[in-house]
Amino acid sequence: MFLRSAIFLLCFVPILGFLCQENSPVYRFTIGDIRATVIYDGFLTFTTPPFFAPVEDVNASYSACFRSIDPLTLSQNVLVLDTEAGRVLIDPGARGGEEVPVLASAGLLFKNMRAAGIPPESIDHVFLTHGHADHVSGLLGLEGGPAFPNAKLYVGVTENRFWMTEPLPISEDHPLRDTLLYRDGVAPYAPSLQLVEEDSSPLPGFRFMSNTGHSPGHNYIEVESNGETLIVSGDTWESKPDQLQNPDWQIGTETDPPMARRSRVKLLRKVARNRSLVLSFHEAFPGLGHVVKSGRRSFDWVVAPPRNIGTGVVQKCFS
Ligand SMILES: [Zn+2]
Repeated sequence: MFLRSAIFLLCFVPILGFLCQENSPVYRFTIGDIRATVIYDGFLTFTTPPFFAPVEDVNASYSACFRSIDPLTLSQNVLVLDTEAGRVLIDPGARGGEEVPVLASAGLLFKNMRAAGIPPESIDHVFLTHGHADHVSGLLGLEGGPAFPNAKLYVGVTENRFWMTEPLPISEDHPLRDTLLYRDGVAPYAPSLQLVEEDSSPLPGFRFMSNTGHSPGHNYIEVESNGETLIVSGDTWESKPDQLQNPDWQIGTETDPPMARRSRVKLLRKVARNRSLVLSFHEAFPGLGHVVKSGRRSFDWVVAPPRNIGTGVVQKCFS
């Protein structure tokens, strides 16, 4: 009884200055000997669907999944892994702010990292699956320096070359203005930047796997520890109602749509066949689950069963 009263006081008495009403923005699990944490970075907001498909079809698919397209939102799931080689963060999400409307509802990563007891200063290695701004602009701290001041940055050699050399037009109507945001985000890490060859292993237990198309040097990342494997799919597909159930739907940011489609279907078939555990960056938080084949050319998402439900006792509330 005393315990219940104490929990009630901790969570609901405003005078203590605690806020405990929200769902947790953190999901913890393990891969072999690796402790893993998914941290919610907020979501992308599209006022019109970004997919090249009839809007009625997008609406029907989203509605069937109890999701809206007005606006259409995509979660941002950032992964942190505690390994023997140090603390690894994959895709630091978006910087937020009003500068780019699509990204304005993202950028919660740093607040949620600190709430999880994972300060940005504790990150040793940052991996990028690719260079789009919703994955990269979070590299830049609010003061203009590196958001992860003690981290080395790892990016595929092809991907980095593309964003650093391609004179892409940066126009008002380009939703993400990726080129500029990539260069701004990567610049503070130049002294420690590690360019990773495709299909190679920059750290023990990690492998960058080339699946070009969404961007010229897009990689998905395989994580392996003590016989268990996790596939970090990046933007090979977006989420269940769109490119997972409809792999042929192009999203506006794809640089080579036919190649992106081939890479998407190839990885979807592989993870479905292998019954792999997958971390999907834009699937509904925490984005941890499995892919199953649901038709000749369609796939479905099965949320991973929760493995770490504790006693339900609130240990700490955060202001
Ligand atoms: Zn993305």
